[in-house]
Amino acid sequence: MPLLESTLPAPVLVVEDEPLIRQRLSTVLAQLGYQDDAVLFAASLAQARACLAEQPVALALVDLGLPDGSGIDLINQMRQADPAVGILVISAWSTEDAILAALRAGATGYVLKERDDLEVSLSIRSVLRGGAPIDPFIARRVIAELQPAAASPTGLDAESMLSARESQILRLVAEGLTNREIAEQLHLSRYTVECHIKHIYRKLSVSSRTRAVSTARSRGLLG
Ligand code: CA
Repeated sequence: MPLLESTLPAPVLVVEDEPLIRQRLSTVLAQLGYQDDAVLFAASLAQARACLAEQPVALALVDLGLPDGSGIDLINQMRQADPAVGILVISAWSTEDAILAALRAGATGYVLKERDDLEVSLSIRSVLRGGAPIDPFIARRVIAELQPAAASPTGLDAESMLSARESQILRLVAEGLTNREIAEQLHLSRYTVECHIKHIYRKLSVSSRTRAVSTARSRGLLG
């Protein structure tokens, strides 16, 4: 039962290149009470810009990884054109760079694609009500960013022990990515990722991903 129908800000622009996710968002919007004709779809930055040139939108759900560029550019453009428009990023990207860039560009909220429909729906509702929903995972990262890193109890300069690449990989391990996903995200072979992880284990004197992450955290290596 659509509760918001009479007050639903429309139209909604969905900028997403993956058909399955488009379908998913279309279903979520329908459940919120949106009629088909109130939802516009764009599969690229170019399509989104063409759409916006024809009519302003009240809400945009924006993916970041688009075939012709980054959704962040679109967010920038939309925010400059309309300080009030709701812009919710729905992205698979959970790296600090992506998140902070999107929020700086003017995104109203940020939710990860891996969340279930209910969570995505709640985030959309939150934006519609003037909120700024931030995925709990991201909120934790931001909070950690604002708090000083725990001092190394041994006085060991542990940060210098890990190479930049190793630290980067360990952060992705901490985010729960598999070796395959890390390899994909960093454009490395899976074998290379496994080698780096072995080195990380050795340097931190651990033998599991969980221990590597907790040890690195306790030494302030993961922020
Ligand atoms: Ca994409």
